[in-house]
Amino acid sequence: MDNELNTEKVELLSLSCEELVALMEKIGEPKYRAAQLFSQLHKGISPDEMTNIGKKTREKLMAVASYHLPEVERKLVSKLDGTTKYLFSLSDKNCVESVVMRYKHGNTICISSQVGCLMGCAFCASTIGGKVRDLSPAELLGQVIAAQKDMGERISNIVMMGIGEPLDNYNNVMKFLRLVGHEDGINIGYRHISLSTCGIVTGIDKLAKENLPITLSISLHASDDKTRSEIMPINKKWNIDSLLGACKRYFAETGRRISFEYTLISGKNDSPEAALALAKLLNSRLRTRTETMPIHVNLIPVNPVKETGFKEPDRAAIGKFAAILEKNGIRATIRRTLGEDINASCGQLRRNASENKE
Ligand code: SAH
Repeated sequence: MDNELNTEKVELLSLSCEELVALMEKIGEPKYRAAQLFSQLHKGISPDEMTNIGKKTREKLMAVASYHLPEVERKLVSKLDGTTKYLFSLSDKNCVESVVMRYKHGNTICISSQVGCLMGCAFCASTIGGKVRDLSPAELLGQVIAAQKDMGERISNIVMMGIGEPLDNYNNVMKFLRLVGHEDGINIGYRHISLSTCGIVTGIDKLAKENLPITLSISLHASDDKTRSEIMPINKKWNIDSLLGACKRYFAETGRRISFEYTLISGKNDSPEAALALAKLLNSRLRTRTETMPIHVNLIPVNPVKETGFKEPDRAAIGKFAAILEKNGIRATIRRTLGEDINASCGQLRRNASENKE
């Protein structure tokens, strides 16, 4: 139990059922209380509000444990599509962002995995101030619980595409995935969860062995090492070839389709030649004559961040890029931009908030 934050007390929302049982034993309470607690905590009910548990028990519990949900610091709702963006404040006053998108198939939340980010991608707002700290399993889960509670609606899908690099916070993210998929808790199926990484190869290899059938997304953004290293420093550690090698192993181990994200930046990686090179790369590195690995590319027009100066290509260039991929056997979708009126792309609200404080 190494997830405490500036306190000796253990965070209740970071504990598995088994760990809650052990905690009950430690404070001299019957084991059955653990199951009762688990499901209520994950509904967003704090121990103070649990009327079915006696006051003495609650006092004993709170002497050794803590319960915090992220608090809504700011909330922006798009008038265009109902996309809701939260700036959540954590127990130490650091802030992270989560975005709830409304689709026909249900509500999807995009959550943050760290306060800030170490990865240094050139186009991304989240990394500008570096990494402050990792989020605990309780804080990862807390974003889902707090958003559900605030909206009064069920969230059925999760994407780990907010602030931070999830595979740079590996153990806490794995614990979170097991907690959020638990049937007595939030109970979101793994097939409804995506994790996006900038390409930490050792993390991808570890993830492949976890037996968690989530969808893996790879932020590729370029098909040659020169361009990729210019915009994504991680490429200097694990280049494109070693990254795609890990993708191949991941697919062989899990049978799960991998999707690739490709942020289109005007004049940098958006030419027809770049599209052809991308299709060739994916086809030659991931597919053999006998094996057709399903590959999906999500094209994301870069969201301009004032510090980076990058611009999105015009619509015609984006359409052409997608058409070239499709023509060469790669399924491509152009990411629909949601919440355009509320600046819903990750990292920008937290940045604005911290700039205003300075
Ligand atoms: N660190 C992880 C997850 C967080 S970023 C990763 O790199 O995948 C989620 C996605 O948003 C990534 O594909 C990232 O490259 C992309 N992204 C970040 N800033 C962006 C911007 N300004 N415009 C478009 N996409 C951006």
